[in-house]
Amino acid sequence: MKIVSVRAVPYAIPFSRPLHFASGFIDLADNVLVQVTTDDGVVGVAEAPPRPYTYGETQVSIVGVIEKLFAPAVEGLTLLDREEVRARLGRTVGNPTAKAAIDMAMWDAWGKTVGQPVHELLGGYADRLRVSHMLGFEAPEIVADQAIELRETLGITSYKIKVGRQPIDLDVAVCRAVRTAVGDDAEIYIDGNRGWTAPQAAEAVRQLEGVGLSRVEELCRADDVMGRRWLVSQCPVPFVADESAPTPADVTRELMAGAATGVSIKTARTGFSDSLRVAHLAEGLGVETVIGNQIDGQVGTACSLAFGASQAWTARNSAELSNYLDMSDDLLADPLTIIDGAMHVLPGPGLGIEIDPDKLSKYRTDV
Ligand SMILES: [Mg+2]
Repeated sequence: MKIVSVRAVPYAIPFSRPLHFASGFIDLADNVLVQVTTDDGVVGVAEAPPRPYTYGETQVSIVGVIEKLFAPAVEGLTLLDREEVRARLGRTVGNPTAKAAIDMAMWDAWGKTVGQPVHELLGGYADRLRVSHMLGFEAPEIVADQAIELRETLGITSYKIKVGRQPIDLDVAVCRAVRTAVGDDAEIYIDGNRGWTAPQAAEAVRQLEGVGLSRVEELCRADDVMGRRWLVSQCPVPFVADESAPTPADVTRELMAGAATGVSIKTARTGFSDSLRVAHLAEGLGVETVIGNQIDGQVGTACSLAFGASQAWTARNSAELSNYLDMSDDLLADPLTIIDGAMHVLPGPGLGIEIDPDKLSKYRTDV
């Protein structure tokens, strides 16, 4: 179980349906595949998605920090040295998705080594997660049609709608159109990606009262400190911290400050080891969680699935697992599937996924 190499492989796969939201847009999955190889010949994998508008990382910076700092710090340790690895990577600030991918690739390699699914090693609670799909900026009728199509083709009945445009009327109209289209039984919630001011967000929440939102997320900036607390204090549903709370310490800070009443857990930024910390923190405090989507490819989605289904606290809400559907292709030999609005955990050892070598050769950008 000794780690002999940590490699970072950049690749690029276009999106067939680009996603627009208040803090940016994405039309290319320019991710980094991280491979952790042991002296037994086992290769664990995970992917790091660059989100410069959220974490400051780029594909080049992820490859660079892994090659120059993280790989030398990790090589020579074993797969069971996860806390030592965390401590060594923690000497460098930032770089959350690079750190998370190394952590998850180590868990994948550990699972493959002992012949057990990572989902089971983490807790193994549920055999599936209900899927929630993230809907980007479009006109109301287009977003409503997308929601209907997802329900009819995949059975999806939970939707996160991206909001935060100016003025607020367009996003309010989108939410109303989706509710009318999908009916009262479907779950709808919104994510502002800090696009509104606190007063604008408060007005939008008031106008959306009849729509029946299950939660709201990052409607204004957490740095608008008192405005954010004022907004959260009057919000009738859980107010989820996402990009404002990327570490367990940030989660504690935001919750204790009254700046959030829910937490988005993204394995893409907290891996499995710190996602466990966030989930247990939230459970101990009785705070709602949602498994968030970092606009993950299928490798990242398999990580979200393994983690989200492993804990009772995270498995009880629908999880954002389906935005790989907007990509034109992916790296997996066997694509993920959504049946009756749910994704079942993968039974194989480790993450239960296999990288297709031909697809990796086709899409990698370093050769
Ligand atoms: Mg979000």
